[in-house]
Amino acid sequence: MTAEIIDGKAFAARLRATIATDVAALKAKTGHTPGLAVVLVGENPASQVYVRNKAAQTQEVGMNSYEHKLPEDTSQETLLALVQQLNQDPTVDGILVQLPLPAHIDSSLVLLTIDPDKDVDGFHATNVGRLWTGERALVPCTPTGCLLMLKDYLGKLDGKEAVVIGRSNIVGKPMAALLLAESCTVTIAHSKTHDLAAVTRRADIVVAAVGRPEMVRGDWIKPGATVIDVGINRITLDTGKARLVGDVNYAECAEVAGAITPVPGGVGPMTIACLLLNTVTAFQMRRSI
Ligand code: NDP
Repeated sequence: MTAEIIDGKAFAARLRATIATDVAALKAKTGHTPGLAVVLVGENPASQVYVRNKAAQTQEVGMNSYEHKLPEDTSQETLLALVQQLNQDPTVDGILVQLPLPAHIDSSLVLLTIDPDKDVDGFHATNVGRLWTGERALVPCTPTGCLLMLKDYLGKLDGKEAVVIGRSNIVGKPMAALLLAESCTVTIAHSKTHDLAAVTRRADIVVAAVGRPEMVRGDWIKPGATVIDVGINRITLDTGKARLVGDVNYAECAEVAGAITPVPGGVGPMTIACLLLNTVTAFQMRRSI
């Protein structure tokens, strides 16, 4: 079997087009434009690229983008004051504080200071609770993107065996919550899981969010399963060139799976699109639309 490739780049482009239409309709209906504030502290080059991309895509779908760039030595007090100010600002629907923050700042405290109704990253404990109790929540962007691709490809997910490898608060745990809400039978695997290959082989749906290059091998995959590769790992080839690979051995797994996301071009592009989606959701939730 050769797997169908789930094209996250094309899916994300379609999703952004839908979001642009929704934003235009919301503007016409309410007279207000959804706004996303992104806060960057320091000079981390990867973070600077992410923030630039987020701002560009926010504007492309017709929303307002507010960038706050603060120096590396910004005090925690100053950052918390900015977050409070954004919480109060009626033109701001979504607040994203780009991680990682410098070591002298308590990231958990900053994330918990964001108004849960503007928490478009979905990391606040209130949104985590809402997700697990089935209330309307802002859900972390990466697992939201994975779920949208799975539903688009598979349709209804109920009754499917899903194995999520990784239990981080950002990907693994919210992914499991989303799959459970779709009535999958969910297993969360992690570094202490015994015989991970046998556990993974049970799955109709495998989501790998580990951070270990090409760890999931072809003989771990049930024939026809759908494989979602969240991992982004930079490896150096024998030639000295760098390459991005996922947590899944793509060549091996694509021989067995029914469908698979590539790296790059799979989950990655969906993450920013889902941030825009969350900003629209936050706009609607705050106005009870
Ligand atoms: P974390 O490091 O927070 O979590 C990794 C998880 O993998 C942990 O739960 C850990 O288990 C588990 N793990 C580690 N080693 C093994 C192993 N040998 N067998 C089974 N489980 C293992 O990572 P994240 O969740 O933040 O990210 C995971 C990957 O996804 C990374 O490559 C990251 O770059 C990528 N990523 C991609 C995004 C995108 O937009 N495409 C967004 C976010 C992340 P334990 O808890 O026991 O330690």
